[in-house]
Amino acid sequence: MTTKETILARAGHCTPCTEDNLEQHFECINPPIHHASTVIFKNYAHLKASYNDDFTGANYADEGVPIVRNLEDAMTQIEDGYGTKIFPTGLCAITVAILAFTKAGDHILFADNVYSPTREFSDAVLPNYNISATYFPSDAGVNITEYIQPNTTLIFMESPGSNTFEIQDVPAITKIAKERGILTMLDNSWATPLFFSPFEKGVDFSIQSITKYISGHSDLLQGAVSTQDPALFKKLKDMYKILGIGVSVDDCYLTLRGMRTLAIRLEKHQASALEIATWLEENPAIKQVIYPALPSHPQHALWKRDFTGAAGIFSFLFKDSLSSEQLGEFVDSLSLFRLGYSWGGHESLVMLGKQARSLPHNAEGETFIRLQIGLEDPADLMADLTQALKTL
Ligand SMILES: *Cc1c(COP(=O)(O)O)cnc(C)c1O
Repeated sequence: MTTKETILARAGHCTPCTEDNLEQHFECINPPIHHASTVIFKNYAHLKASYNDDFTGANYADEGVPIVRNLEDAMTQIEDGYGTKIFPTGLCAITVAILAFTKAGDHILFADNVYSPTREFSDAVLPNYNISATYFPSDAGVNITEYIQPNTTLIFMESPGSNTFEIQDVPAITKIAKERGILTMLDNSWATPLFFSPFEKGVDFSIQSITKYISGHSDLLQGAVSTQDPALFKKLKDMYKILGIGVSVDDCYLTLRGMRTLAIRLEKHQASALEIATWLEENPAIKQVIYPALPSHPQHALWKRDFTGAAGIFSFLFKDSLSSEQLGEFVDSLSLFRLGYSWGGHESLVMLGKQARSLPHNAEGETFIRLQIGLEDPADLMADLTQALKTL
């Protein structure tokens, strides 16, 4: 069996050359980038062949620039799936996947800790199509049954969810969903396919914000949706084409380049985050560090059962309720942790805010501080945090 580390080093390479003319032969490690719209047919017979449903070649750039296929293939391999589509953003991957598999009259269940733009899409757009949506507890398992309605057709999970990091019992939820013919999607951006295997746990669609760890260098936006089911993949692919989605070939190149180091980057993010989270937990100014890899996390046992590692992003809460000015002073006095959205890159970031939730949660009404631990030396990051904590 080929491990994910080996796949990451090898998948999506340059397509082997089939040219008979050795003087035309040029094969290298990384795939070429074609900047293309029109694809030239060899002749009329080639054009006619492209009308066939089973034609797998490219008839236009929206469905076949080689480097896009190389990236789709690499993602499919690390997901152990059947097929993957690459989207211009992670959020676009989520919204298109939802639109492709719901219709008027359906009901969708979302984990209450979903990424807030996912919630905004659900609240602002779905009602226009007569699709209803409600939220289930972020730490749900078999109790998902209490939230399923007769017209529920899709359960959308995010585990651990954004900023409050509760974990869902994904195998329990997917088992119940399967028994009832309900599709399941998982936003697996935190763990990536390296630390959580969605298909082994019964999920129908695995979704990645490639923007985060997969690309890993804070220099592009992309998303991915993968599935193990050929029929579901065909439907996703059709919707992708119908909605006119396409991605930048240059960004596909950068994503493939980022993926080469995903396994070693994640190991470093994990080791540094665990060290810093453990250290922060001891600080008297801090009430709680919310990180699944810490034994103090309410679902640490579930994390240990289902995950093979932890990402480098977590939140904490201050003991005292700090004024907006004090919080501002704290984040402004950090120098290695820059103030900015997103995560998964090589640099450390800080973000803060309150959480929009429909149900009670673990940081009710409180401002959480979120740290993305980058690839810097953790000793330097702790020194930075120490001097900033002194300003309080
Ligand atoms: C960032 C993020 C997304 C969206 O990704 P973009 O590429 O920024 O659109 C989706 N889900 C989660 C959990 C995220 O953190």
